[in-house]
Amino acid sequence: MAKSIADDSAGTSTPAVPDKTVTHKPAAVLIVGAGFAGLGMAIRLQQAGINDIVILERSTEVGGTWRDNQYPGAACDIPSNLYSYSFAQNPDWSRSFSGSREILGYIHHLVKEFGLDRYIRFGKNVEQLEFDERKGLWSATTSQGEVFSGRSAVMAQGPLSNASFPDMPGIEQYKGHKIHSARWDHGYDFRGKKVAVIGTGASAIQIIPELVKEVEHLTVFQRTPGWVMPRPDFETPEWNKEIFRKLPFTQSVLRQALYLAHESMALAVIWSSPLTRIAERVGRWHLHSQVKDRWMRRQLTPNYRIGCKRVLISNDYYPALQKPNCKLITWPIYTLCENGIRSVEGIEHQFDCIVFATGFEVSKAGSPFPVIGVGGRQLNDDWSRGAQAYKSINVAGYPNLFFTFGPNSGPGHNSALVYMESQLDYAVRGIRKILGENLKMLDVKPHVQKQYNEGIQKRLAKTNWNSGCMSWYLTEDGFNATMYPGFATQYANQMKEFRDKDYLLVPG
Ligand code: NAP
Repeated sequence: MAKSIADDSAGTSTPAVPDKTVTHKPAAVLIVGAGFAGLGMAIRLQQAGINDIVILERSTEVGGTWRDNQYPGAACDIPSNLYSYSFAQNPDWSRSFSGSREILGYIHHLVKEFGLDRYIRFGKNVEQLEFDERKGLWSATTSQGEVFSGRSAVMAQGPLSNASFPDMPGIEQYKGHKIHSARWDHGYDFRGKKVAVIGTGASAIQIIPELVKEVEHLTVFQRTPGWVMPRPDFETPEWNKEIFRKLPFTQSVLRQALYLAHESMALAVIWSSPLTRIAERVGRWHLHSQVKDRWMRRQLTPNYRIGCKRVLISNDYYPALQKPNCKLITWPIYTLCENGIRSVEGIEHQFDCIVFATGFEVSKAGSPFPVIGVGGRQLNDDWSRGAQAYKSINVAGYPNLFFTFGPNSGPGHNSALVYMESQLDYAVRGIRKILGENLKMLDVKPHVQKQYNEGIQKRLAKTNWNSGCMSWYLTEDGFNATMYPGFATQYANQMKEFRDKDYLLVPG
């Protein structure tokens, strides 16, 4: 098992444990997590006239993944005008691809602009969520023993919220400094240090160009090379921001153009098509233009179809690898040892610090805490052979519960927030129904969910994600419970329709 990093390492403190259980008055909606999803949910509920909301946040600050991922170089690889909510556009993005601090600033702005502070309870780490069929209520128990409940609940804890050190031999023996990309140690002085980075995924390729500027020597351990595409990143001129401020529709037009451009990328990234070959040619051209050494190019050339793993975008990753103080190692790691890393060819590399850019503990088999539904059924059991939901948002046997970033809602080519918006609006429809019709239960019918998932898995079989590489999109058995096999437009269209007949409706 990969070792989870303490969740309070992102600037949170452990709240005092109360002497006895405190039970709060039920709210209309209980939301777990105050990241993009949880806050967006609260905004859309508020706009629909639902204000009886409680958001439970384990940290002491909002922001989720953008609060946690503050490593040097952290930025979004989707343009900011698309990686933001359409109902809360920001005319002031400083660049086409903004950094994580600016994105976090945007999230803080959402809280202020929509007055979301009043809903958030900080330092509330949910340890269990349980449905009471008699009352039609979800109850969340926190690690301090407090109980919060709601007529509906929304899971917005984020799919990439649990950072994990990989399960590598010798990891406990290593005596030097260890840092995980998602829990950056801002107090560590890298100057004059010999540092290793393990991993060459989306986080690593942003960290490496920054670290190489600071350290005495950087060694990058690559297991699988990624497809790296050019990054069209520009500063936004002041006049441009001014136009967006004065004529907001111009920003909507740009957003729509970016959306359509990303939609067209689906044809290259999701399915194998002539566009896939063109995209691969662009990737190879990018590598060729930036790396002159043939041997290094060979080491950096992926041997799988573009799109199978997440496509990376960077202009400074390849140049960073060629700096005189940087070395790329492609021999597999044999073990970590007291002073560093031993690779399989027998060489021991010594390091003051190892940076693990090795990804997250994606909840492939369930949720990060027990979720107990009708008749005591547990989500982790129901999902033990792969997570499944109806339209990624509802799971049979867990009434009145709505998932954000749920099973098979991941995009490989477009902004996750586009998908998110349609999930939020779908959940609002369901929650309005529960409250408006005083339903005790709104539960998706098992056969509807089954049929939906059979269709999803059939379509996934034809995608690049299932074309033979290993990625965090797949479980060890190769089951894809992560990605949506289609255009964002298709996903959004299915979410526009809330069909009562798909649900079992039990009056209160
Ligand atoms: P990741 O994509 O899972 O990459 C992890 C890297 O660590 C891979 O190169 C992997 O190699 C390597 N690795 C893992 N375990 C290893 C082991 N035991 N030995 C050697 N190498 C090992 O993780 P990530 O880079 O943190 O990114 C995760 C996700 O976060 C991304 O896919 C993306 O969705 C999101 N993200 C987004 C942005 C953004 O700009 N929006 C930025 C960063 C991250 P293999 O490839 O061989 O498995």
